[in-house]
Amino acid sequence: MTGRSVKWPKFSEIGDKGNLCPYCSRAFERRPVKLSKCRDCGGQVYIRTRPFDGLRVLLRDSDLQVLENEWVICREVTGARLNYQIDKVLWSEAKERLVASLGRSPSLFEIGSLYYEERLSEFESKRRGSGVRFVILSLAIVAAHDGMFDRAIQGYLNVCYIDMSGSMGAHYKNSLEGPPVARVSQIAPGVLARLITLAARRGWDESKLRDSFIYSGERLFKKMPVYKKPDVIWPFLADVLFCTAIPLTI
Ligand SMILES: [Zn+2]
Repeated sequence: MTGRSVKWPKFSEIGDKGNLCPYCSRAFERRPVKLSKCRDCGGQVYIRTRPFDGLRVLLRDSDLQVLENEWVICREVTGARLNYQIDKVLWSEAKERLVASLGRSPSLFEIGSLYYEERLSEFESKRRGSGVRFVILSLAIVAAHDGMFDRAIQGYLNVCYIDMSGSMGAHYKNSLEGPPVARVSQIAPGVLARLITLAARRGWDESKLRDSFIYSGERLFKKMPVYKKPDVIWPFLADVLFCTAIPLTI
């Protein structure tokens, strides 16, 4: 077992979190709270929140694009822009049941767990691979949304397993051999981007990623008609995760 780790650009510690002008470093008497001009150098000073640590910082105009790019990645990772389709009536029912049993307002992940677990057993009993994939992905997104990043990583690994095992390909349904073992092209780019970013951010190394992939994959393999066992698939996913040629744009 090697200790390779996932590499991904980190967010930058951009801007000034104190009260210094980002152009001339002169201290403001009062820290600006909205777009201002530095009295000393005349620079336009912008105030934005940075993904690096969530602090409001003072920025120069050339920093804005960098920050905007980082926010795009950040929103992708936390799933804030994703829709996880829900049946609103069943979702509220799940929420009400939790309020009654917990005696407090449940988190999004708690509602999601209850709501999706019920869908999952339906899909599993009908052996609907696409439904199972949808539930696992949705729960990972909800987990990331609630800041449960390790749980989200496990979910994304599971989705990669489903995609790479070929279980989704109707084309291979009647083939005993199953599809040829997966390539990068079979993984959803959004899922891969989130997996890589979270794994890098949470410091998951190769051994931890592999163990989680194999363990959760084995459980899925028992329930669903997927074609390749996780230990056969893992080396291919590992190549994608740890190689430098990751086909993603920032
Ligand atoms: Zn200045």
